[in-house]
Amino acid sequence: MPESPRHAYVHVPFCRHRCGYCDFTLVAGRDDLIERYFTALTQELERICEPLELDTLYLGGGTPSHLGPDGLRRLFRLLTTKLVLADDAEVTVEANPLDVTADFVAAACECGVTRVSLGGQSLDAATLRALDRDHAPADVQAAVARLLDAGLVVNLDLMTAAPGQTLAAVEADLAAAVALGMQHVSVYCLTWEKGTAFETARRRGELQPVEEALEGAMFEMAIERLEAAGYEHYEVSNFARPGHRCRHNEAYWDCRPWEAFGPGAARFDGRTRTTNHRSTTTWIAKMHAGEDATGDVDAMTAEQAARERLVVGLRRRDGVDRAAFRAASGYEIDQLVGDGLARWVAAGFATDDAAKVRLTRGGLLVSDSLWADVLTT
Ligand code: SF4
Repeated sequence: MPESPRHAYVHVPFCRHRCGYCDFTLVAGRDDLIERYFTALTQELERICEPLELDTLYLGGGTPSHLGPDGLRRLFRLLTTKLVLADDAEVTVEANPLDVTADFVAAACECGVTRVSLGGQSLDAATLRALDRDHAPADVQAAVARLLDAGLVVNLDLMTAAPGQTLAAVEADLAAAVALGMQHVSVYCLTWEKGTAFETARRRGELQPVEEALEGAMFEMAIERLEAAGYEHYEVSNFARPGHRCRHNEAYWDCRPWEAFGPGAARFDGRTRTTNHRSTTTWIAKMHAGEDATGDVDAMTAEQAARERLVVGLRRRDGVDRAAFRAASGYEIDQLVGDGLARWVAAGFATDDAAKVRLTRGGLLVSDSLWADVLTT
């Protein structure tokens, strides 16, 4: 009998504006679809026969805050017909700083939201312009202050390696972010995804990625400055003050089962990942027509699931405990990595004390290049 999921993700695919680097599942400037989205979501929730008790709920997007205070209340009324929040549930909503009005914060608190993840990206006007964002540094500052005042836990997303960004600009950004006092920070390097306006501009020579060495230095600086300010670097991209790790993401990284609803949302039953159709309009149309709106189904073998478990485990600073890994996956780490592990240790990318394997800071910096050793059978 598969374990019942205690975690759920809901994808809200609406944004005011599509940022030039973004390839997420969303529609920009299509608020006319919101009503049809709610109907489609109502239909998808019919999959849940018995109310599902959750330890964590995460509303991501897109921009869930784009629904506004009343839209947020409506969404929670709908979700809680099938999803029951445990007393100490962590409930996260992603928000654009411009949407974080006093009314929105009041609605979030009323709905049981405990944590807001703010798509700030930077506190520097030039970087925000370079990233094609639609808000100013003052909007981020005002949003963080308002959320903290309301007693909510706040994550701030920061981006590095924006076109034209310097190391000094990243340093200033980190100092400004730390001064805001939020409990959690996620730091991502800009990636140039196929099909985005940024990637097209890069191919035409109109935008230049920062040099790889500078990108590494920016990330290293983020780790140093945030650790010095009391944030624990607990996963490649994530930093938290003690007691404020994101429980929802930890469930993903522990490979626990989770439910997911909405276009492009992927659910996981411990072995199979089932992803809804990635096009918002197609997902809505299929749900309205009573058709199957499933996109990809990735049914992993036990060995593939073990390899994936190892990668997500190694992205965490706690590392992977050999005995716990064996008990959860049925595999030994050495069986999966072979002599790759000895190479990582020799290169200073990992430590291995026989009980636990952990990537070092240097290993985390180059982690994407290490996974070939784990994922190649
Ligand atoms: S606000 Fe976020 S989800 Fe929306 S387009 Fe920009 S980066 Fe993508």
